[in-house]
Amino acid sequence: MNYAGTLARIALTYGNRPAISKGVTVQRRYSELADRVTRLAASMRGSLGLAPGDRVALIMKNCVEDIEVMYACWHAGLAAVPVNAKLHPREFGYILENSGAKLCFITSDLAEAVADARSDAPELERVITVATPKYEALCASETMTMAEVTPNDLAWLFYTSGTTGRPKGAMLTHRNVHSMTMNYLVDVDVIEPEDCMIHAAPMSHGSGLYALPHVARGANNVIPESGGFDVDETLELIKHWPGCTFFFAPTMVTRLINAPTIAKADTSNLKTIVYGGAPMYLTDTLKALDLLGPKLVQIYGQGESPMTITGLPKRIFLDPQNPRYHERLASAGVARTDVEVRIVDEDGAPLPVDAIGEITLRGDVVMAGYWGNPEATANAIRDGWLWTGDVGAIDAEGFLTLKDRSKDMIISGGTNIYPREVEEVLLQHPSVYECAVVGRPHSDWGEEVVAFVVAHPSQAISAEELDQLCLDNIARFKRPKDYRFVDSLAKNNYGKILKTELRLIFETEKAG
Ligand code: AMP
Repeated sequence: MNYAGTLARIALTYGNRPAISKGVTVQRRYSELADRVTRLAASMRGSLGLAPGDRVALIMKNCVEDIEVMYACWHAGLAAVPVNAKLHPREFGYILENSGAKLCFITSDLAEAVADARSDAPELERVITVATPKYEALCASETMTMAEVTPNDLAWLFYTSGTTGRPKGAMLTHRNVHSMTMNYLVDVDVIEPEDCMIHAAPMSHGSGLYALPHVARGANNVIPESGGFDVDETLELIKHWPGCTFFFAPTMVTRLINAPTIAKADTSNLKTIVYGGAPMYLTDTLKALDLLGPKLVQIYGQGESPMTITGLPKRIFLDPQNPRYHERLASAGVARTDVEVRIVDEDGAPLPVDAIGEITLRGDVVMAGYWGNPEATANAIRDGWLWTGDVGAIDAEGFLTLKDRSKDMIISGGTNIYPREVEEVLLQHPSVYECAVVGRPHSDWGEEVVAFVVAHPSQAISAEELDQLCLDNIARFKRPKDYRFVDSLAKNNYGKILKTELRLIFETEKAG
């Protein structure tokens, strides 16, 4: 079953509903979108000379054409390779070369960067700028019937964010994206044609993945004029459009709830904020609930199992009487409906309730493997189970608590310390805006705990106050031995704090 069928079917029934808007202006209605998709698909398979299974890269700032190109690729039996527009030209070059894309669609602002990247990608034959007469001509050719594909054919080559090492291309098949969509509709939200998804986060990643269930249900996909996340613009869009859903990295939620304009803003049109991709700390979750109401859903997923491993549905946020309410909100939630999650030891043996081990899972949402990398695939998928590289424990009620990436865990004096636990405590201090806890090599202990702390603007914090907070809340050995007050923390293009960079600081200091 070709995933593009979800668009073709919904366009029959809701042809006149808005499909894609820019700011407050509708740009494509469903019948028009479906029609242009069949024509663009025909051009790719015809005049542009692509064959079934060929890869097509999208290096574009969030734009109206993103969804059009994606569905045209699927309609034509091609695989889409969405690339984060904020990457460096050399990273573009790497992904273009690694995926073997023959065709690349770009937005005009990225022409120079992609031109620089081309020398690294000998297989790339053509670069086409969207929203130009040339692009419009491709969308006006003859139509083609939808290509037959198998559920195992590649739909989306998803390059992981690569907080360590080179990004790898997770192969997401038509079955995987169908499964992701169905899991959204079952666990996250019901979507109506009157609703919209506002794409303030990169569409090459989570926000674009969530365009899929919204297209499948005939909802509007709104691209902010800025193409990204600006708090005031976001609040204006919420005022304008009904039934708004967002996918936010936790850092975006933090920016929204700490904005001076939020208290007076009219957010009654806000339906859902799905957050995930990195830990969100309990204090921020509680503040967001307080300011926005019970509109939060958490998801824990990874490119290898897109947006779908565990989650915290809205009803859990609506149950403050539950004796374990705070623990539940601090967790990553329960296994998604169509996913089996297991905590295992190094040999893959399942561990009992509450025991800490690696998180593994299986289900139709799990990728087929890494593109052109059988070794990494064999390491990630063993006996049908995906090994996430994340460490966690599942309690007796089925809630998964994420400890950390296995590589972020600190081992001090032979004891494991999970940075997140310490970070949760530090964030209870009202003046702490964000923080990151990492291990620093230590001759006696192996590693010792160091905290990097960013204070709210013009608020002062002392190491003594933070130390006292830790003494009051966690075991002594988990307390940071050093507090570094910094102006900001380095993040990757998806808003994840780069702990590798913090650890590098120690190496530089040692060398110096
Ligand atoms: P990516 O493949 O770039 O989406 O990164 C996936 C990784 O982000 C996961 O393996 C986790 O380490 C982390 N992650 C995703 N969702 C969450 C969440 N809800 N809470 C904490 N960490 C998360």
